[in-house]
Amino acid sequence: MPRFDYAPAPESRAIVDIRPSYGLFVGGAFVEGHGTPFKTVNPATEEVLAEVAEADAADVDRAVKAARTAYTRVWSRTSGRDRGKWLFRIARILQERSREFAVLETLDNGKPIKESRDVDVPLAAAHFFYHAGWADKLGYAGLGGSPADPPRPLGVVGQIIPWNFPLLMLAWKIAPALACGNTVVLKPAETTPLTALLFAEVCEQAGLPPGVVNIVTGAGPTGQALVEHPGVDKIAFTGSTEVGKLIARAVAGTRTRLTLELGGKAANIVYADAALDQAVEGIVDGIFFNQGHVCCAGSRLLVQESIHDDLVRRLQRRLATLRVGDPMDKNTDLGAINSAAQLEKIRELADAGEAEGANRWSPACELSSRGYWFPPTVFTGVAQSHRIAQEEVFGPVLSVLTFRTPAEAVAKANNTPYGLSAGIWSEKGSRVLWTADRLRAGVVWANTFNRFDPTSPFGGYKESGYGREGGRHGLAAYVASEVGA
Ligand code: ADP
Repeated sequence: MPRFDYAPAPESRAIVDIRPSYGLFVGGAFVEGHGTPFKTVNPATEEVLAEVAEADAADVDRAVKAARTAYTRVWSRTSGRDRGKWLFRIARILQERSREFAVLETLDNGKPIKESRDVDVPLAAAHFFYHAGWADKLGYAGLGGSPADPPRPLGVVGQIIPWNFPLLMLAWKIAPALACGNTVVLKPAETTPLTALLFAEVCEQAGLPPGVVNIVTGAGPTGQALVEHPGVDKIAFTGSTEVGKLIARAVAGTRTRLTLELGGKAANIVYADAALDQAVEGIVDGIFFNQGHVCCAGSRLLVQESIHDDLVRRLQRRLATLRVGDPMDKNTDLGAINSAAQLEKIRELADAGEAEGANRWSPACELSSRGYWFPPTVFTGVAQSHRIAQEEVFGPVLSVLTFRTPAEAVAKANNTPYGLSAGIWSEKGSRVLWTADRLRAGVVWANTFNRFDPTSPFGGYKESGYGREGGRHGLAAYVASEVGA
């Protein structure tokens, strides 16, 4: 097969102006934190990008108080129409500054620039546009109240997000919260705080009233201080199931509401009648998009036995063309693993897959000795009991299992503690519907994978969490009454 060599096509980083150090964004201004500052690095090169303040419990308290003041004095008295105007303004600024956000996201996260440019940033803007539209129409959402007396906000919302889609998860959290009239204290992940801090500048630029959005940086203890703060009316968390359980325990018995979007171990089911080359594209997108750092990644490929060898051959041929390397290069398909700690977890699980007897395969690819890298990896001959079939790897590692009948496919797909997403590939509509009906997953894609849209609710069953984000359903998490939800 002919291989084309690409000339390097690096995106310039000149558009971003990274400050040497950042404070916390509280009450509309950058202020000092009182914890121990930490460094955020570029995972592709290990270069230190900036030093970031750590919020201790007193700083979190200050942020919650700023959010409360803004809620009581300004935001709860602001009409839906005016809230919508601010959200529109933020969406427009995100579009205007999209290249800056894309470059900064790629530098801090390690994801390919073509993904931050074409997926993360446009979707983040789309979330603000979508929720801007809802802000003055909440009385029509079927969530209680009436057009003249729309459902009430909850108050101050604490939001904790992970590192895999830093700006996009911020948008998923902040846009609906503000649209519904809440104020926010958001904690980005400790390895990817920079786009949230740039977003703070967007809030300033948009003239958002001080204290409506507050950003506190730090790791687990900062998140914990936010979760345990009695002045927070609701916590929205996206991250690991392990931390989700800690948070659920911490708020149990308090008046704090909670929504959780946690891990996943999605099945991507390919029936023998599927369009195989299209399925291969969906499989690649399902598990190698964003280096597999995706909670809804299609990490378990369930293939009907009769097409297994053919499909695996096609998949391997396709994977040999993937370009792994400099995330700033516009031709790169797979970027860097976000952190040394995550790389270690991926290595450990992949080694376990091999030790338990599955067959490991990766295409030939050169990985840089600096930075954190892991090649696209496929395990065949995987049994349901293997750790790589049970546990979330959160990396570019695909486990291939087989099935004979649709009933077996469904049983295997549902044999997981998780239930976030699933994929089905078949040319036959009735088979797709039959299967989708039986899958215990919050999102089921048919003949595609990893499609996101702000109008479409996203969330899990079982240990993947509860509550929905996006769409009309997502609004229910941010208003006091949920009648008819
Ligand atoms: P991941 O495995 O994706 O890194 P984590 O669940 O560890 O996910 O992290 C998601 C977010 O939760 C991050 O912002 C992290 O700092 C925060 N976090 C970690 N531990 C806690 C905790 N005990 N309480 C609240 N937030 C936490």
